[in-house]
Parts: sequence; C-alpha cells; structure tokens
Amino acid sequence: MDHAGIAFDHVRKEYPDGTVAVGDLSLTVTPGEVLCLVGPSGCGKSTTLRMVNRLVEPSGGIITVDGADVMSQDPVKLRRSIGYVIQHVGLFPHRTVAQNVATVPGLLKWDKDRTRARVEELLDLVGLPHATYGNRYPHELSGGERQRVGVARALAVEPPVMLMDEPFGAVDPQGRRRLQQEFLELQRQLGLTVMMVTHDMREAVILGDRLAVLSKGGELEQLGTPDEVTEAPANDFVADFLADFGTVAG
Ligand code: ADP
Repeated sequence: MDHAGIAFDHVRKEYPDGTVAVGDLSLTVTPGEVLCLVGPSGCGKSTTLRMVNRLVEPSGGIITVDGADVMSQDPVKLRRSIGYVIQHVGLFPHRTVAQNVATVPGLLKWDKDRTRARVEELLDLVGLPHATYGNRYPHELSGGERQRVGVARALAVEPPVMLMDEPFGAVDPQGRRRLQQEFLELQRQLGLTVMMVTHDMREAVILGDRLAVLSKGGELEQLGTPDEVTEAPANDFVADFLADFGTVAG
C-alpha cells in the first residue's frame, strides 16, 4: 500500500454566501499518521476534510495528496481513490453487504474473482466474516456492524488516505469504544494515513497521533500530540475548549 501524506498550504474556503469557513490553513498529515481535527461546531472541520476529496472546492491555496495537487486531478477519480467514511455511513439499502463493499471495485471494473477475493479479505479484516455477513442487507445489521461495512467499503481499493467525518458518532458508546480500538489496530496494520473530524475530545485523544485544534474560520490554534495539547494548551482558546469538554464528558 502506498504511504501518502496530505498537505495544506495556505488553504482558504469562502462559500458563495460570503462565509469564510477556512481562512488560511497550512498543515501536514504525515504518512501513516492519524490526524484528528477538533474544535467547536462550525469552526470549519468538515469543510477542511471535504476539500481533500473536492466534495468542497477550495477557494485558494494548495492541497496535495501524496505530493499531487488535488485540483489537477479529475474529481471523480480523486474521490474513488480516497477512502471516505461518514457518520451515517450511507450503505445502499437494497444491496447486500458484499455488494456494498464491492462498489468501487465495480466502478473500476475489476474482474469478478479479484473483487470477490478482496471483499472476503476486507470483511474478515473488519470482523464480519463473509460467510455470515456477505449476503445480509444493511437493515439486518447493528449500527456498529454497518459502520464496519462502511470502513471495509472505504478500504476496498487500498486508498492511500482515508477521510473520516465523525465515523463512529452514530454508534452507542460501548460499541464505539470497541470500534475505535479495532480501527486503530487496522490503521496501524495497514499504515493508513487518516484525517478525521471529531467533536469528541476523548475520541481524538484515543485515535489521534496528533490533534489540530481549530477555532472559527479554520484558525489553527494548536497542532500537537494529545499529550502536548492536553498538558500544555497553547492559549486560552485551547484551554477553554478542553475545559468545556471536561464538563460535558464528566
Ligand atoms: P464544522 O465541521 O467544524 O462544524 P463546517 O465546516 O461544517 O464546520 O462549517 C464551517 C462554517 O461554514 C460554518 O459557519 C458553516 O455554517 C459554514 N458552511 C458550511 N457549509 C456551508 C455552505 N454550503 N454554504 C455556506 N456556508 C457553509
């Protein structure tokens, strides 16, 4: 698997209504790293993430994936080459688990044997053996199982990078902890480069190699390891954000 990084160089996003969601953001996700974007609602986390696969088009600056400028690539091909996992995973309800995981290989016209082998391998990888789960439909799964199918689907073509937006947000707290651990093992095993949005500081501390704390307008307040951020907040904004979280999380 390729070990790609993601780099933002003075990236800006202004929506057509004049909202500056991200003013001037520069940061790098190093190969094999999990970078968590954290910060209050509306600070530009999702916008930042979605610019990487051009679901949102940047208004300025340069974003590269594995050294290649995303703006110079065909957006459809770019999207198929990057894993994307969201909170409500958006499985196709009338397709089986195996068919859902085979979505992108199908679009890329992989042959049947290669696709079947890959689907079986992926379902094993996320703990949903093909023999048991392959022919089920999404409504026959728990929330956590559906989320695993989403991860398997995103991994289907060995993407160099994965984008995850509140990936475990819809899963109950107990299931979420297990899923987080399993995802971390998978990420390490595959050496995946991950950019993840979460509003849950606890999740960020568990999963992130580094955290990027953002304030309104995608302002980067601090970039550091979970220990650095929690033990030495860079400023009052970060300290207050951590304190708020402490209150909420108990
Ligand atoms: P977060 O993920 O941190 O909650 P978002 O990236 O979703 O933040 O949003 C950042 C800002 O951009 C917010 O003020 C939001 O209202 C605004 N925004 C998001 N999407 C759009 C859009 N399509 N048009 C206009 N403003 C938007």
